[in-house]
Amino acid sequence: MSAPSQQKLLEIDHLRVRFRSLGPVKALLKGNKDPYLDAVADVSMTLLQGETYGIVGESGAGKTTLGRAIVGLADSASGSIRLNGTELTNLSNNEFRQQRRQIGMMFQDPVASLSPRLTIRSLLSEPFQIHQVNVKQIDQSIKRLLNMVGLLPDFLDRYPHELSGGQARRVGVARALALEPRLIIADEPTAGLDVSVQGEILNLMADLQDQLRISYLIISHNLPVVRHVSDKIAIMYLGRFVEQGDAESIFSRPGHPYTKVLLEGVPQPDPDKRRKIISIEGEVPSLANRPIGCEFHTRCSYAQPRCNQEQPSLQKLGSNQYVRCHFPLNR
Ligand code: SF4
Repeated sequence: MSAPSQQKLLEIDHLRVRFRSLGPVKALLKGNKDPYLDAVADVSMTLLQGETYGIVGESGAGKTTLGRAIVGLADSASGSIRLNGTELTNLSNNEFRQQRRQIGMMFQDPVASLSPRLTIRSLLSEPFQIHQVNVKQIDQSIKRLLNMVGLLPDFLDRYPHELSGGQARRVGVARALALEPRLIIADEPTAGLDVSVQGEILNLMADLQDQLRISYLIISHNLPVVRHVSDKIAIMYLGRFVEQGDAESIFSRPGHPYTKVLLEGVPQPDPDKRRKIISIEGEVPSLANRPIGCEFHTRCSYAQPRCNQEQPSLQKLGSNQYVRCHFPLNR
């Protein structure tokens, strides 16, 4: 992908997204004074124009909730989300709809996210109809979109179940591009695809970025996918970024023990460097029962007595690398 500019497109500061875990009556009966869970707890990041930011974490880390908060599908409890300098968290519905046009969304399961009763023509027309674009323009636009994602016009009369995984993903890319967004949020863009098809989709996304100067926020549990395409990455654990910054620095010198374990689990193409797939010991703790101190200490092989008493704050490790650990690696 080509070099990003220095213009800030998306700025998130201390974002917190909370969900009610118990109804008001149950909370009262259980004497629970705070029946909310922080799915996203204090996340900050900056995404530049033309840049790709990968967010990696296990299931339940809060990465999908973060993406949903940016597009207004989850309410922020506090903090700020600015798109091109405009604060999104305090807009009226109408004002938000105008800004929302700048963000395209690629959903996790493209076939399930496409209505099975609609043809590809109808599915690609939807975003234009919602924004009241005239019919003649719609027809031209959907043909152009199909061409951009490498599908022939005869796909327009097919239904989602008639598509392969890769074709459905291309339709998902086309829908995300429909309103000429500046940012695309791609939630698990290659999940469920064969490795060769994964490569085709990532290459398509890279080509489109070069042509259109769009930015991507890629949400994935798949570190190799994120590694190949990201300028910056964040490693997310229990709703917080435990490491974030320049992708190359983090991949070559991980500072957080969690990042290190995730990287050690990545298969190596070079047989001399191949290591066995390492899984992380233990389950991800429940959001309702966050460990005291460092929230990773229950699974960390580097933990020391301080770790289960004091929560680490984010500290600078390199010129553009930050880590939330009392005893960072590769210092
Ligand atoms: Fe491990 Fe302690 Fe660092 Fe947490 S603070 S990641 S427990 S070494």
